[in-house]
Amino acid sequence: MLTVEDLKNLQGKKVYVRVDFNVPQKDGVIRDNNRIVAALPTIRALTKQGARVILMSHLGKIKWKEPDPAKIEAMKKANDMAPVAKALQELVPETHVAFCPATRGAALQEAVAALKDGEILLVQNTRYEKGEEKNDPELAKEWASLADVFVMDAFGSAHRAHASTVGVPEAMKAEGKPVAVGYLMIKEVENLTRCVEVKDSDRPYVAILGGFKVSDKIKVIDSLLKKCDYVLIGGAMSYTFKKAMGMNVGNSPVEEDQLDYARKCIYEAKGRLILPTDAVVTDSFEPKEGRNIKVVSTIIERGGYIPDGFEGCDIGPETAEFYQSILAKAKMVFWNGPVGVFEQEDFQAGTKAICEAIRGLKGKAFTVCGGGDSASAVKQFGYKADFSHVSTGGGASLEMIENDGHLPGVDVLR
Ligand code: ADP
Ligand code: MG
Repeated sequence: MLTVEDLKNLQGKKVYVRVDFNVPQKDGVIRDNNRIVAALPTIRALTKQGARVILMSHLGKIKWKEPDPAKIEAMKKANDMAPVAKALQELVPETHVAFCPATRGAALQEAVAALKDGEILLVQNTRYEKGEEKNDPELAKEWASLADVFVMDAFGSAHRAHASTVGVPEAMKAEGKPVAVGYLMIKEVENLTRCVEVKDSDRPYVAILGGFKVSDKIKVIDSLLKKCDYVLIGGAMSYTFKKAMGMNVGNSPVEEDQLDYARKCIYEAKGRLILPTDAVVTDSFEPKEGRNIKVVSTIIERGGYIPDGFEGCDIGPETAEFYQSILAKAKMVFWNGPVGVFEQEDFQAGTKAICEAIRGLKGKAFTVCGGGDSASAVKQFGYKADFSHVSTGGGASLEMIENDGHLPGVDVLR
């Protein structure tokens, strides 16, 4: 793959950069500018060389199925990219950031033509175009015609084969224009590829899988069971596995239609799939005065179960210690999905225990966290710096693991 560092002689060249500026915002107020900051190394590497930088990104969702045009307009207005241009300008005072409210046509072409060497143009939300998510070839061709070089730096969007992520580099490649990856992409692809192309020196390789649904994670579980020495299960999905083994799980969430799949996993894993031995349970998921919270054993062979009227909300202390002892010997760890309802203080201990185990591996093992909620738990509890890598792409990092290191927005650049 060509990287942004390989690109030379960019003076006066127009460079299309697909960034991830899908920032959390409301009414034009940006709550967190992390994603803009994260794109700066790639943007600066280009502007410093005198390139004319055209930035493209989506922002939020526009539901084109909505029949009422007034509602579509309201969705557009709620996801206007203009405030992002202002925020970007504040971060790069050394150059000028222009904003183009048009996503196609003469107005866009004029805005690109007005760019001077080393300047930046941020284009309106790519999802203002109905053809973006359909990867419309006409749209991709038009965008591709704007620039001489393509750079992909939006890892969080690389699992989507949309016009701005896949159609454009395809069209530019066909025209013989160079396509490359930016700094953010390089880091993500390198780190996540290591988790799927496992070297002997990275063993024992341990995965922790939590979160809500088994059905969301089937392909990840399959993929990791093939690669890992141990897969530790936590979160709500553990109750589907326990029920599949015949345990009474009380009122815990269970996916009945995944019981056969869970049994197949347990059988095929031959002891490498590890389930919790105890659970923190409650008689009320909603936090309220006097709710009953207790720890119960979930070792089926010893008669463990979750009583009716109670549901599991975290791994118990014995499981936490057991998982920590397995993690302590790991050379590589991939973690997706909180092992408890980490949004509530009463059920954070399990997820924090996993974080502690990772902290203990600092400098001794390669540790990666991928997944939207898992990454926010790690950040919220203050453990981000203890990981070798915390992925910025929720869905993209999971798909990368599922598909053995392949993503549409990455493969098109290989
Ligand atoms: P990620 O975004 O990291 O892939 P998921 O979206 O799969 O993770 O799951 C995160 C959600 O799972 C969190 O909102 C958390 O509260 C929930 N969860 C974890 N354990 C439980 C549990 N025992 N019961 C109910 N919800 C749980
Ligand atoms: Mg999630």
